[in-house]
Amino acid sequence: MKPDLGRLLEGVAARIIAQAEELTALDSAIGDADHGLNMKRGFEAVLADKANILAKPLPEALKAIGMTLVMKVGGASGPLYGTLFLTLGKELPEDPTLADLARALTAAVEAIKARGKADFDNKTMLDVLGPVARHLGDGTATFASVRALAHQRAEATVPMKAIKGRASFLGERSIGHMDPGARSSELMITTLCDELE
Ligand code: ADP
Ligand code: MG
Ligand code: MG
Repeated sequence: MKPDLGRLLEGVAARIIAQAEELTALDSAIGDADHGLNMKRGFEAVLADKANILAKPLPEALKAIGMTLVMKVGGASGPLYGTLFLTLGKELPEDPTLADLARALTAAVEAIKARGKADFDNKTMLDVLGPVARHLGDGTATFASVRALAHQRAEATVPMKAIKGRASFLGERSIGHMDPGARSSELMITTLCDELE
């Protein structure tokens, strides 16, 4: 796998920015209506830092993206998405294989769990990231199957009751709405699949 990081970065940033209103609308139902704004601000900052990021080897580039997201996204999701990219940067070699990616994403999921003191089925981004990490390592992953799984797992947060994050303040009333962070994770993963395919 020799991905063009510049293209991947632009693709993911463009998708998140294009869907910012949808993410904010999801967060307005069960949170504080800022997830799209937070993510848009973060990825605009990543784009602004693109030349610096692309001058680095992949692991360092991923860490730089993580640092920018921590600083600019804010909220609960900023440190958690920051942890995702920082861990990928720590775990991935410069020219990763699919097996490397599966292992690194699994490590990132564990780091997000630890950072947010959350688990699967709490109605968070972990409900998309965890199953995708597992699927990447199971030997059957195709671009289509990864895309389908990310979509299906984001949809699967709709009937869940939130246990972590602001949505948990709503208790039973969090049921019936998709988790905004699950949707932003789906968008990142499906866009990466589109760009890599
Ligand atoms: P905030 O809730 O601080 O306004 P955002 O709206 O940007 O932050 O992000 C909310 C998203 O963050 C949620 O939809 C959820 O997916 C994710 N999230 C919140 N808390 C946690 C946690 N402890 N572990 C994992 N993900 C979390
Ligand atoms: Mg919010
Ligand atoms: Mg907020």
